[in-house]
Formats: sequence, structure tokens, C-alpha cells
Amino acid sequence: MSTMAVTNIGAIVSGDINKPLMEGDTILIVDGKIRQIGGKSILEGVMAGQVVDARGTTVIPGLIDSHTHPVLGDFTPRQKTLDYLDSSVHGGVTTMISAGEPHVPGRPKDPAGTKALAVLVHKCFKNYRPTGLKVHGGALILEKGLEEKDFAELAEAGVWLVGEVGLGGVKTPEEAAPMVEWAKKYGMKVAMHTGGTSIPGSSTVTADMVLKINPSVVSHINGGTTAIPTGEVERLIEESDLPLEIVQCGNPRVADFTARRLKEKGQLHRIILGNDSPSGSGIIPLGILRTIVQLCSLSGIPAEKAIAMATGNTARAFNLNTSVIEPGREADLVIIDAPLGSVGSDALAAIEAGDIPGVSMVIIDGIIRVKVSRNTPPSKRQAEIK
Ligand SMILES: [Zn+2]
Repeated sequence: MSTMAVTNIGAIVSGDINKPLMEGDTILIVDGKIRQIGGKSILEGVMAGQVVDARGTTVIPGLIDSHTHPVLGDFTPRQKTLDYLDSSVHGGVTTMISAGEPHVPGRPKDPAGTKALAVLVHKCFKNYRPTGLKVHGGALILEKGLEEKDFAELAEAGVWLVGEVGLGGVKTPEEAAPMVEWAKKYGMKVAMHTGGTSIPGSSTVTADMVLKINPSVVSHINGGTTAIPTGEVERLIEESDLPLEIVQCGNPRVADFTARRLKEKGQLHRIILGNDSPSGSGIIPLGILRTIVQLCSLSGIPAEKAIAMATGNTARAFNLNTSVIEPGREADLVIIDAPLGSVGSDALAAIEAGDIPGVSMVIIDGIIRVKVSRNTPPSKRQAEIK
């Protein structure tokens, strides 16, 4: 049995948007899962194998990037870059969800090829965890000719994601809707590109098409990179209850519009956050933190709620047992504080002031993976191992 205690915590952000701040200053982790949260007394009679002193700083759930385009390994041919996944863990990301692997050079576009790719990427990332990162890869790209039995076969092989509808050859609601229904029948989650054409070969998707195809998630409501008009955002807010993803590599004005509208309507639980990288916009290791800071400092969202958008909201949308601080969840935690020189006195105040917080520790499955981020500014107070 391996036991870890995180003590002396200044603030615990739960990841649950309905109750984003928690009581307590201590978290007990047993065998990679959160066992208990509370005061120091929860450690009575416990012989913790490892004790982390948070030194009065803030603990948040590990961030989920809901929109990534991996290939294989810690390399992206899109920007010819190595170690970008490791770099994201240094930005507080502990889980990534593929929105499709269209950057595979020479990607096959026949049913057998697109299926094989999804199975291969899914299985490789099950075995490959750079810096402990959980990459949910193998998001099927819909191509013409796929049949119901293909979805059954893929589900059998463990594939549970469909990459953004619109990336492949299947584009119209007539072609896509039946495939999306088969995918959901076999338990898959379906992302859907929304907005203008991102790269040559993909297509423009309107709110009307999203409503007809009815995916599990509206990918980049603020465009990747070109957004739908705000009138169409309004339609997706009003006429569906789908999760709406805001991405870093999108349109900042429409991100602001969406956040403000959902705040007014009391529906912030619908927003999830992604990077949409690697992409033409590059690789942004701090992209999820940057999006949180953007929504807090410019769109009036409280920091603990924006953090829930990048953690608990996404975990709920994709049925993941992580990124909420509660007993039984995978112990994926990030320790943050205001960066040196910030006007903010603690992490949440710094975020609301527009500063990227300093990450002083990343814990995945109860194991310390990063001690002092190489990508964020240094935090005022660093967590330390006792
Ligand atoms: Zn897209």
C-alpha cells in the first residue's frame, strides 16, 4: 500500500463547479486514489510514505485538455516538435483527450485504414504515459463506407472516441448522423468541429449541422480557428444542452461572448476547455492555464469556476474518474501559487489579475511527476517534500 499526504494547503479547488472551493488543508492519497480530504486529524494513525508540504498554497485537480491532436509518441509532425506532451504536464495538464489524429503523415482514408489508425493510437497511448500524462488517443475519423459493425468492432478493441466530425470525408448531416448514432450506441463520445474551415481538406460547420448531427461535445464553440457567428452560438446555447468547448487556439471574442452568456444563464457547467493543439497555431504548453486566465481576467469568471471548466466539467462530459478532488478519484493534483512579482497574493487572485500561476508540483496517480515546472514562472511559495 502506498500512501501520500499533502498537508498545509492554503486553498483546495474541488473541480466541481457547483461547489468549487472545499474546506480542509490536508489530502490523503492511498494507492494512487484520493482517500480523504479534511483537517490534519485525517492523518491520525496514518503512516504516510510520503508527505508533501504545500506551504499554504493552492491545490487544484489536474487539468484536462479536451482538444488535442496527437500522433504517436511524444512528437508532432504538425510542428515537428519533440516532448510537447511532457511540456504540457509542466503546464498542469494531467489528462488529454484526442479530437482526432489527422496529422499522421499519409493518413489512410478508407474504412480499414481509419479504423486501424484509431485502434493503434488508442492502444499505444494506453501503454505510453510521458511524464505520467494520460492521453486518451485513438479518436476515429469518420470516412465514407464505415458501417455499424465497424463501430462494434472498434468498441470491442477499446476505442471510445470519435474525432471531430468534419475532419474526414464524412461531412454532411445525412452521412454523419447515422454514424454518430452507431458510435453512441457502442458507448463512444463524439466531438464535432464547429466553425470555419481549419486547414485545407477539412470543412466549415454551422450550428444547424451540429444540431442535426447531435455529437457528444461541441468542439471549439469559439472556432478552431474561425468561429461561427455569435447568433449561432446563441442557438447552440438555447437549442441544445451539449457541452461547449472553448479553446486557446480560437477566437477570443467569441470565447468571451460564450462565457458571459452562460454565466448569465447559470450554465457554466457546460463549458469545457481545450487547447486545439498541435495545430497551425503551434503548441502551447500553458494553453489550458492561459485559457483559464483569459476567462477570469477578461470575462469575469471566478478562478475556481474556470478551473472547474478545465477539470470536473470535462471529466463529466467524458466520464473520466479524475480531475475532481473527492474520495475515490484518481489522485491527479497540481500545486500552484501566485508567480513571483504578481499583484495577486495567492494563485486564485493572481489568475483573476491575469497572471499565469506558478506550478510547483504535479502529482499523477499519487506519484510526483513534476517538481517545479520548467514552463510556468516560479511561484512565490514552493511546495516541498518533507
Ligand atoms: Zn476543429
